[in-house]
Amino acid sequence: MMNTDPAYKKLIECGIRPSIQRIEILRYLLTHHTHPTVDEIFVDLKKRVPTVSRTTIYNTLRMFSEKGAAFMITIDEHRVCYDGTTEPHAHFYCKHCGKVYDFHEMQPPRNVTSDMEGFHIEDAQLYYKGICPACQHTEEKKIS
Ligand SMILES: [Zn+2]
Ligand SMILES: [Zn+2]
Repeated sequence: MMNTDPAYKKLIECGIRPSIQRIEILRYLLTHHTHPTVDEIFVDLKKRVPTVSRTTIYNTLRMFSEKGAAFMITIDEHRVCYDGTTEPHAHFYCKHCGKVYDFHEMQPPRNVTSDMEGFHIEDAQLYYKGICPACQHTEEKKIS
């Protein structure tokens, strides 16, 4: 039963020992596509796993991002958030509501330009910033 768990499978694939807490943390990321912060995950996960600490979540997420089990997103300089979707995709950050959206059809370019020659690239992120449709809508309402 454990072996078919997507979080368990992903940990094994990334060469991470699947402890109960690690499975819980990755499962949270895989089921919450909101790009949560350490604090958001902590508040939610503590309800299910009372023994989990903020430090454990912080360290586990750092390790996940090093091993490729999750993305660390630093699009907002005041807030580091995490993403369990590790297929290449672009992000949109709404400056108004702070939400981070996924653009699945957009990918960071993989072709290496001449000035990138000799660099070993491990990670590529593509960010857009602006105002999301929902916020544009509320702005319009305020004006009229
Ligand atoms: Zn917004
Ligand atoms: Zn994402």
